[in-house]
Amino acid sequence: MVWYVAGSFVGAIALAVGIALFSAESIMLVRLQATDDADQTWWNAGVPTGARVDWEFRGRRRQTTFPGLEIIDYKAIAYSPETGQPETATATRVDAGWPFPCLTGSSWYLMPASSPPGSPIAVESTAFRVETDSGPRVVPWWPRPWGLLFDAVVMGVLVGAGPAVWFLARRIERLVRGKCPACGYPGVGTRCSECGRVGRRPDAVPDDPVRSMLTGEP
Ligand SMILES: [Zn+2]
Repeated sequence: MVWYVAGSFVGAIALAVGIALFSAESIMLVRLQATDDADQTWWNAGVPTGARVDWEFRGRRRQTTFPGLEIIDYKAIAYSPETGQPETATATRVDAGWPFPCLTGSSWYLMPASSPPGSPIAVESTAFRVETDSGPRVVPWWPRPWGLLFDAVVMGVLVGAGPAVWFLARRIERLVRGKCPACGYPGVGTRCSECGRVGRRPDAVPDDPVRSMLTGEP
C-alpha cells in the first residue's frame, strides 16, 4: 500500500516532467493575453533583481498550452535608479502536470543596464533548462501540493483500474464473439471444451434463444 501510494506520486511527477520535456510543439496552442495584477505579483516575487527596480510588463503575455502543460512568457522593462537606463528581462513560467498542474518553475533572462554593458543573467528558478531536439525546454521541479495530491489520486485510480478495465473489456469482447470468456476458445457451450470453464449460467435453459444467438456458430 505504501509503495502503491508512493508510486502514484512518482508517476504523477514523472508524467509532469515527461509532458514538459516531450510535448509536441506542433499541437501546442498559443495565445496572447493581457497581463493582470496576479502576473505582476508573480513577477515581483520571482524576478532575480528583487524589489530593487520597478518592473513594467511590455506587451502581452504569451500563453502556450498543451494537455498537462502551461507555458507563459513575459517580457518586462525597468529603469535603473542609478543610471536611468532601461533593463529588460524575460521570464518563462512553466506549470506541468496532468490533469492538474503539480510542478511549477520558471526561467529568467535579464539584460542589466550598466556601462560598460554587462553580460546577461540567465537564472532558472525551481526548474531545469534542458536542450532537446525541438529546442530548449524548461522543466519545473517545485511541487504544487494540491495539484500533486490530485494528480497522484488520479494516477493511483488509473493504475489500479487499468488492468481491471482491460480484463473486463476482454471478457465482454469474448462473450460478444461467442468465445469462452476465460480462455478465448471459440464456440463455447455451457462448458468450455478447452479450459473446462463452466458457463456463467449453467442453470440456463439450453435452448434459450438469446443465448443461442450469442453463442451459436454462423
Ligand atoms: Zn475456455
